Amino acid sequence: MTHRVAIVGAGPSGFYAADGLLRGQPDLKIDLIDRLPTPFGLARSGVAPDHQGTKAVVRQFERLLAQPDVRFAGNVEIGRDLSWDELCEDYDAVVVATGMVVDRKLGVPGEDLPHVWGSWKFVAWLNGHPDFRHGPDLSAVRQVAVIGNGNVALDVARLLAKGPDEMARSDIVPEAGDAIAKAPLTDIHVIGRRGSEHASFTNNELAEMGRLGRAVALADSAELAVDASATGPTPERLRKAKNLEILRGFAANKSGSKPLSVHFRFNAAPVAIRPGEIELACGKLAADLVITCIGYHGEEFPRREGVFAVGWARHGPTGTIPTNRADSHAVARDVLAWLGKRDPKSGPDPLPRSIDAAGWHRIDKAEVAAGSAHGRPRVKFADWKALLEIARGD
Ligand code: NAP
Repeated sequence: MTHRVAIVGAGPSGFYAADGLLRGQPDLKIDLIDRLPTPFGLARSGVAPDHQGTKAVVRQFERLLAQPDVRFAGNVEIGRDLSWDELCEDYDAVVVATGMVVDRKLGVPGEDLPHVWGSWKFVAWLNGHPDFRHGPDLSAVRQVAVIGNGNVALDVARLLAKGPDEMARSDIVPEAGDAIAKAPLTDIHVIGRRGSEHASFTNNELAEMGRLGRAVALADSAELAVDASATGPTPERLRKAKNLEILRGFAANKSGSKPLSVHFRFNAAPVAIRPGEIELACGKLAADLVITCIGYHGEEFPRREGVFAVGWARHGPTGTIPTNRADSHAVARDVLAWLGKRDPKSGPDPLPRSIDAAGWHRIDKAEVAAGSAHGRPRVKFADWKALLEIARGD
């Protein structure tokens, strides 16, 4: 008998947990359970579709799926097809890797207006997540306010700012790509509630904003007259100092030199949102669309013996995909220590009918084939019915 572990959530942290578990105990049986019929979570639905290099991490995860004792179980929803109690009874340990998939609220008047979108919903639409088939109406959007000073805000601003030629090798869903290409965009404002020295952008992602084809990045030099050298541990100081250097480069750019402008604005906490306008601590700004990029919440799960959370579900929505690897490996060591004190449970296979790895590979093959006709890595199927039919070979 071998121990059986359920990992709920087949995203990066879930795969890294599987990897960590198998490194310590190669004879484990692992079920990677996901609500979607497709694996890879954030790597498929959250990473920006033009960042194919980041998405390439899924090749490592495919190698895990190829292992005989690792099963993918897609289209299995905990609460609908299996309860948390059943999971805990049937498996020797349960790893929760469900990430964080609910946009945080700003808490200002007007944020429920239809032109206000959370970044999770917006990026999931661009990425063909089947729960988010429809995006905002961009047909009359000229000015966009992107709230937040993290890498998600940069993703959102960049994806709106890039022209169709710059997105040609991405896996953005065609309807979203067309909507952005046709939108009469002129200005994208990336808005930080605090000063420029507090922005959490990473250097490479910020520098990328200075290399856009149809958009010029702009900043106000008066807002950059700050000193990032005084505080924080060294890597943080270096990151902030480099960010300021990049932003100073943006301040030297010529306004109007490209059809679109991306403005970096600081000390501009949102106060209220109204149709066509956002009020900030520093004044009002025209905004036909507002996208909040201010972090996420997770969904509840039982916190009890034998249940171990990893990744964003454990520590909140911070860290890149590679930085979550070490976290998942550390939790995997705790899981193995727990298993080491227990005999494996016996009982019938607890998995309900699901989409297995072969089903996912049918989807993958069809998407890649659809993409190759257009020189794209893939064209995603974003429809639940189509995904399930392809996966089942109907
Ligand atoms: P983040 O880096 O924590 O940024 C969140 C931003 O939202 C901060 O600027 C924060 O400002 C702001 N914010 C929070 N509440 C607000 C409010 N009520 N009003 C106005 N602003 C508010 O998180 P993220 O951008 O969501 O990214 C999540 C993680 O994924 C990060 O670790 C990020 O690096 C990573 N990521 C990486 C990449 C990449 O590597 N290419 C791409 C995307 C995401 P304060 O600082 O003032 O709180």
